[in-house]
Amino acid sequence: MSTATLFIDGAWRSASDGGAHDIHSPHDQSVVATVSQASQDDVLDAISAARVSFDSGVFTSWSFKERSALVSKIADLLERDADLIARKESDDTGKRFIEAQYDIADVISTFRHFAALGAKEHGRSVDVGIAHVTSRIVHEPLGVASLIGPWNYPLLQIAWKVAPALVAGCSFIVKPSELTPQSAIALIKIIDEAGTPKGVANLILGPGSVVGASLISDPRVDLVSFTGGLATGQTIMKAAATNIKKLALELGGKNPHIIFADADIDTAIDNAVTAAFLHSGQVCSAGTRLIVERSIHDRVVKEIVRRAGDISLGGPDDELAETGPLISKAHLMNVSTYVERGIAEGATLLVGGHRSDKPEHANGWYYLPTVFDNCNTTMFCVQEESFGPVMTIEIFDTEAQAIAIGNDTIFGLSGGVWSGDNEKAARVANALRHGTIWINDFGPYRPAAEWGGYKQSGIGRELGEHGLGEYLEIKHIWTNNAPSRSGWFRDNK
Ligand code: NAD
Repeated sequence: MSTATLFIDGAWRSASDGGAHDIHSPHDQSVVATVSQASQDDVLDAISAARVSFDSGVFTSWSFKERSALVSKIADLLERDADLIARKESDDTGKRFIEAQYDIADVISTFRHFAALGAKEHGRSVDVGIAHVTSRIVHEPLGVASLIGPWNYPLLQIAWKVAPALVAGCSFIVKPSELTPQSAIALIKIIDEAGTPKGVANLILGPGSVVGASLISDPRVDLVSFTGGLATGQTIMKAAATNIKKLALELGGKNPHIIFADADIDTAIDNAVTAAFLHSGQVCSAGTRLIVERSIHDRVVKEIVRRAGDISLGGPDDELAETGPLISKAHLMNVSTYVERGIAEGATLLVGGHRSDKPEHANGWYYLPTVFDNCNTTMFCVQEESFGPVMTIEIFDTEAQAIAIGNDTIFGLSGGVWSGDNEKAARVANALRHGTIWINDFGPYRPAAEWGGYKQSGIGRELGEHGLGEYLEIKHIWTNNAPSRSGWFRDNK
């Protein structure tokens, strides 16, 4: 791949200082791409291009319907290139090609959802109770947005931001994770090919610690939409305070998964394994915190341990593999330390707890599915996100206790409840303070439904209707069709 992989003001270019870095496969550390690493000048150029294009009206003058048609065309082009993009995604993340194909299908659905939403009527009339006054609420593009994404679902998390930003008429700078940039490069090529005006879509590559500061603090940026870890979210919030930027934050989660004794236990166990170990736990909504009614604890634990121990790990094209490696050596080290700390604080390690020792995994970042029993809410491993394949198990005796444990977290992204009693399940779902709750299920989402976190899992919502609203300003226009004097102050003329 050429290293002219920055897209600024409608043109591909290399970094102004020649900076570039290699992308390594988490499966075997082979180099899968070499991409530009933006300099500070490149970042400032991208912000300038976005600001100038926004203020020029080149895109804001398009109607919602015209911008929706553009987003629909982008969805068509994504469909054309779906497998090529899935291959890049699987190269960068190490995830199985088939999982990357599912992800790109979700990306396409996201673009289709926002295209359909944009094509609807926007704004409304308000009855102000005065016959000669018309009052309108209009929706306008918010401005210039910095769109910063993580590495676990690289293109999907970016798509949740780019598609509504385009429908709304914002100009933006995309910054994918430095570990997984290839799919974002492919998306920006398609956005350009679809006929997006110059300067609207810009792409900056590089580590957040190097290229991120201006993206979040430059006064010409109106909105930062960020998906990533809590600590980075806190840094962004502080920096954004300087000019009261709008913020949309999708942060971490430590998601309770509650199984009552009256549930379909076998189905619940199967879903609990998927919820915790899908994509090796590198999922913000992973159900890694299992909370089980005492009477079924032993049965559930025995089965979970058997199933977790059977999960087969492998690389992008390993047809027998069920999940892949962790993203990087640094992440593998973090997960190892997290597990060591869990053991030290008294959790009982039942399976996993170390790197895979299979020779075919020797060059990759493979960590075994790990289960801790005898956990409680005071433990670090229960409260903190590992973002790896580590499940903790806690016991409850009553419905009230299950709810209290499920809410005993600083996070509030998602949760699950399994019960054969629909009323009880609904009561628990209502009482859990998390942005998505699944009853007798865990994990599915649709672009038509809002996604986001309570508490420290974030601010705002992506997807649904609200996900477009994040990129819009709302203006009230009052028109008096029969003007008259206000008469408030005496006129002593
Ligand atoms: P991260 O916070 O390390 O990085 C995310 C992005 O922020 C990357 O592009 C990174 O380069 C950039 N960044 C880092 N420091 C920055 C700075 N100072 N200024 C600007 N940008 C900066 O997160 P990650 O490790 O890539 O992703 C894992 C985290 O993301 C987990 O905590 C996970 O729960 C969360 N996540 C949340 C959701 C959600 O929908 N809530 C979805 C996916 C991932």
